[in-house]
Amino acid sequence: MNVSEFKIYTQSPEETLALAEKLAGYVKAGDVITLDGDLGAGKTSFTKGLAKGLGVKRNVNSPTFTIMKEYEGRDFPLYHMDAYRLEEGGDEMGLEEYFEGDGVSVVEWPEMIEDELPPYRLAIHIRHIGDTEREIRFEPAGERYRTICEELIENERTGN
Ligand code: ADP
Ligand code: MG
Repeated sequence: MNVSEFKIYTQSPEETLALAEKLAGYVKAGDVITLDGDLGAGKTSFTKGLAKGLGVKRNVNSPTFTIMKEYEGRDFPLYHMDAYRLEEGGDEMGLEEYFEGDGVSVVEWPEMIEDELPPYRLAIHIRHIGDTEREIRFEPAGERYRTICEELIENERTGN
């Protein structure tokens, strides 16, 4: 299998959380995931599920006044970035250190820091379909992220 992209449809916030929680089983420190989609699409919800899967105990919410929040996970930290309020670039924020660091980075509004992002990453696009239906499209860049997606698809199909 050579995955270039695939879509999963969720019918409730719980389904989105559960999907993200599954994904957490395949990521490791140094991985970078971007989440884009309109306000209210479910980017933060997805991050909450991922956090749960990584063993984060604290409640995850959108960083309001900071761009980045760090959460302690079971094996490594989760770096949650929300670039929504960044006026421009973010090039002086030292984000690369996190991307190459010893945790998993999740970035909401990645388009705001496009130039800072590593070329290899898992892009996830979330789209409103209906009240509680969302299209979640996975677009892996690089072998590592294609493998993650293949594992996730396999999990979705067989349940383990
Ligand atoms: P974002 O971070 O993209 O702005 P949030 O995750 O903060 O979005 O908010 C998503 C909202 O949509 C939440 O209120 C959530 O309960 C709701 N929602 C409804 N259906 C879904 C779904 N299938 N997946 C994710 N969120 C959903
Ligand atoms: Mg959000």
